[in-house]
Amino acid sequence: MTARAAVAAMTAYALELREAEVKLNQNESPFDFPLKAEALARVAERAWNLYPDFESLTLRNALAKAYGFDADEILVGNGSNELLAAAVGAFVGPGTPVVFARPTFALYEKLVTIAGGLPVPLDLDPATGLLPLDAMVDTLTNLRGAVVIVCSPNNPTGGVLPEHGLEQLLATGATVLFDRAYGDFALDTLPPLHDRLVTFSTFSKAWGLAALRVGWLASTAATCREIRKVKLPYSLNIVSETTAALALEHRNLRDVNVARIIAERERVLAAMRVLRIEVFPTRANFIAFRSPITFEDFLARGVLVRKYAGFLRVSVGTREENDRFLECLT
Ligand code: PMP
Repeated sequence: MTARAAVAAMTAYALELREAEVKLNQNESPFDFPLKAEALARVAERAWNLYPDFESLTLRNALAKAYGFDADEILVGNGSNELLAAAVGAFVGPGTPVVFARPTFALYEKLVTIAGGLPVPLDLDPATGLLPLDAMVDTLTNLRGAVVIVCSPNNPTGGVLPEHGLEQLLATGATVLFDRAYGDFALDTLPPLHDRLVTFSTFSKAWGLAALRVGWLASTAATCREIRKVKLPYSLNIVSETTAALALEHRNLRDVNVARIIAERERVLAAMRVLRIEVFPTRANFIAFRSPITFEDFLARGVLVRKYAGFLRVSVGTREENDRFLECLT
């Protein structure tokens, strides 16, 4: 069977699936979730033969309380991926121009292409890896009905939007989809709600719950209602919802993870600079860099990193994992 032309022309979301002793290719947390027994005990009390709460209210209420929103200003889903797809479904139609940085998270362009939108990639400054805010604002100012997807800190380069960047993007009149998957590592705060702004967060990185697939978004109640029309019902199962709500009762767990990762990130960056490795400035839990050591060289020494056009990206792991990575460079 032939798929629609737009889909037939696409490539699938790809990942180099390789076995390695030290896995630093997916920006995962190196710290497993410490409250599994308590989470599973709570899940065991629930009925498994019945569908989960249609409104996922336990988790939405917990998020609302933790971040100072109302529950109707929050949607939760099966990873932020699902919510990004729902938001693109709500705001991008045939011909809608969608601005994003290049390189950025590859999923954005795929979702836009599936929706029939018009991808408008704008290159990052290769020297700094910083997001091209001025170019985004200029481009959006000349486009009507545009959407911009901005990831800050940006995956895979780690740079952030300059201060007041979101305000500048909103001032163009565009719809702004703001992905702060790595925002905890930049010690960011959530921006105030706006009808044309949707902020995406995830439990996959700083919380160390990637396997459970929990993401959430915040926007005004009116905008949430529109996105909810597109989102699949019951996409969040009770194991994931219960565990994420439990995690929010122990926010110190995230803060300790984040502090450990930031300390290691700075240690690794300093060591790389001493070795004169060209690194992109990063506020995330990963480092993009250029070095004479190739992806295959790292792999041969048991370290799996991620390969991009012209550079590599390494996640910040445990101290031991990071030392293994640094040994490859020396
Ligand atoms: N946004 C960005 C920028 C990411 O890098 C990722 C994960 N690689 C996601 C969203 C998706 O996260 P989740 O696990 O919540 O679907």
